[in-house]
Amino acid sequence: MKTTRRNFIALSGIAAAGLSTGKTVFAGKALSQNLSSGKIKLSFEPYNLALKHVFTIADSSRTSTPVMLTRIEYGGITGYGEASMPPYLGESQETASRFLSKVDLSRFLDPFQIEDILDYIDQIDEGNRAAKASVDIALHDLVGKLIGQPWYRLWGLNSILTPNTSFTIGIDTAEVVKQKVNEAAGFKILKVKLGRENDREMVQTIRSVTNVPLAVDVNQGWKDKEKALEMIYWLKEMGIVMVEQPMPKEQVDNMAWLTARSPLPIFGDEAVQRLPDVIKAAGVYHGINIKLMKCTGMREAFTMAKTAKSLGMKVMIGCMTETSCAVSAAAQLSPLAEFADLDGNLLISNDLYTGMQIKDGKITLSDLPGIGIRKI
Ligand code: MG
Repeated sequence: MKTTRRNFIALSGIAAAGLSTGKTVFAGKALSQNLSSGKIKLSFEPYNLALKHVFTIADSSRTSTPVMLTRIEYGGITGYGEASMPPYLGESQETASRFLSKVDLSRFLDPFQIEDILDYIDQIDEGNRAAKASVDIALHDLVGKLIGQPWYRLWGLNSILTPNTSFTIGIDTAEVVKQKVNEAAGFKILKVKLGRENDREMVQTIRSVTNVPLAVDVNQGWKDKEKALEMIYWLKEMGIVMVEQPMPKEQVDNMAWLTARSPLPIFGDEAVQRLPDVIKAAGVYHGINIKLMKCTGMREAFTMAKTAKSLGMKVMIGCMTETSCAVSAAAQLSPLAEFADLDGNLLISNDLYTGMQIKDGKITLSDLPGIGIRKI
């Protein structure tokens, strides 16, 4: 149908009528009430995640992960956030508590001024990236709830394009590895932690029970580029589909050498913390692993993903051991990613929220507003 001016006016009228009778009008009313309803208030409390299995990576093991839970309240609406702080990254409940105690959101009158608020948070102190993310996530959850939409929609992303998530199998005895692989039936891709003497054995053990595609995360464990390349050729034959941080992040020239020759895509994780690292990663890695706890939250993560794509790099979205709060926040970005490793909530036995679901191995976003979670 050719759209004449008369048709256009008629269509506009229908659209306007739809708006005044639909949900939007309620969101609009809530918005105008909330915008004049006082202060933005942050609160926080420590919580310890109980891991289902002892978790081992290249140089450490643990059975629990400390987190800090945050809330930002405004106009009767609450946004939820979380900082996950595995000990090897240097933050703790003490450092997060110290950092969050310095935050004064009452100086802002409008929670929609995300840029101003998060610039202020970022300049309070150096580091404290997980603590900063806990404010960022709660603020995004609050703002999404005030608007009445989930963030994937506010960012203009298509929820059908979410990737499958990998499920991580930690380093362990052959018997436990087999048991974990069996528990992971239903996942379309598994991730294996390598970087020790028994790498080939680990891969062969998994291959003895499943042919599902595998991602490997070396956590900087390989020190020799020639051996690393040989290993990557062997891994390709074993059905591995990508390699994460094979060598130490400081070995930039060796990493670039390896990436130029690798038959599998190589992703930087430890080497890529925040936005400036994305630019440095071009030519050194094929892709980057974005994690909210590394990059201070959803605002910077979105910019990192867009920047990586503009530089011709692939994007992966990862997580720490986290509740469904931070995992669901990360999942909002996942339509931008080729790979996802959002299994952190599945590794714990005391989650506090429901949100993003894994259905048939695929990240499935809820239509709930904000970061898409509900308290259990
Ligand atoms: Mg990694």
